[in-house]
Amino acid sequence: MLRKLAIAFGVLVLVAGAGIVLLYRDVTTLSHQAVSADVELVQAGGINGNVAVLRTDDGAVVVDTMTLRAQGARLRELAEKLGGGPVQLVLNTHYHADHSHGNPGFPVGTRIVATKRTREYMLGVDGAYWRGEGVWSVLGSDVTGTLPNDLVEGEEVREIPVGGKTIRVLHPGRGHTGGDLVVLFVEDRVLHMGDLLVVGTYPSIDLEAGGSVAAWIATLDRVLALDFDRVIPGHGPVTDRAGALRFQAFLREVWELARQAAAEGLSLERTQEVARRSLTADAGFVPLGLPPIFVLDRDFVVRRAWEEATGAVRVSPDPAG
Ligand SMILES: [Zn+2]
Repeated sequence: MLRKLAIAFGVLVLVAGAGIVLLYRDVTTLSHQAVSADVELVQAGGINGNVAVLRTDDGAVVVDTMTLRAQGARLRELAEKLGGGPVQLVLNTHYHADHSHGNPGFPVGTRIVATKRTREYMLGVDGAYWRGEGVWSVLGSDVTGTLPNDLVEGEEVREIPVGGKTIRVLHPGRGHTGGDLVVLFVEDRVLHMGDLLVVGTYPSIDLEAGGSVAAWIATLDRVLALDFDRVIPGHGPVTDRAGALRFQAFLREVWELARQAAAEGLSLERTQEVARRSLTADAGFVPLGLPPIFVLDRDFVVRRAWEEATGAVRVSPDPAG
């Protein structure tokens, strides 16, 4: 009996081990596709944010670094192949783990651009990771060395020349968080919007870090005023101006519903019932997440909008000012 149990346990350990290996392989295997002559979209499985690699005469420019240090390291290798040489510049669209925790896969001293507010969120709400505290101490001290070190402030529009290309970056306003950066590859007319845009799925709204459904709508107007053809969203397939407008229409619909619910004093449950009957702009959206840890779906977005509209969650102050 004991022997059988021992064998069963051994099999279980093997299966679990194989599962972890497969999962690790899945998230560290990178695929890529051309978006323009010199811009590649790089993706991995799961909830990893979309990465852009720009090829220049001097080497690669990388937007976002996915979730794991190991992914960052693989991303760096791939970027050097796709981007014409060593990585010259990394940008973080915002502080969330699935867009920035791969930074330590790049050498300490790499130029890393983000908004000042993003760096504050990294050292604030995500401080344990970036200071290498607690469980993160296994990563070693150089995590701190790959925090953003070139910061965009307020309404500054930064033009960064690299190897014959122009990278234009700006913070168009609050939305997904209070510190999102959009990155325009000027000559290629490709825009990376980070999580200010997700395609075919539901957005996260980080009210606790400056996010706002209400502000997001006007923020998208400022993004749409830029000169571009193709858009890389934070999650989902490459789209265009029309794709960004569809997403904006969904936010508008949700915010209008939440605003009315707040004016009429509707409970969250009642608001979600109304949403189930009346929202149409999210036709075809599928939930995104890591159940049971978190799921981004229609109920989630409606809850966040209701919390903002009713004041049930105090939205953090406007980071711009
Ligand atoms: Zn995000």
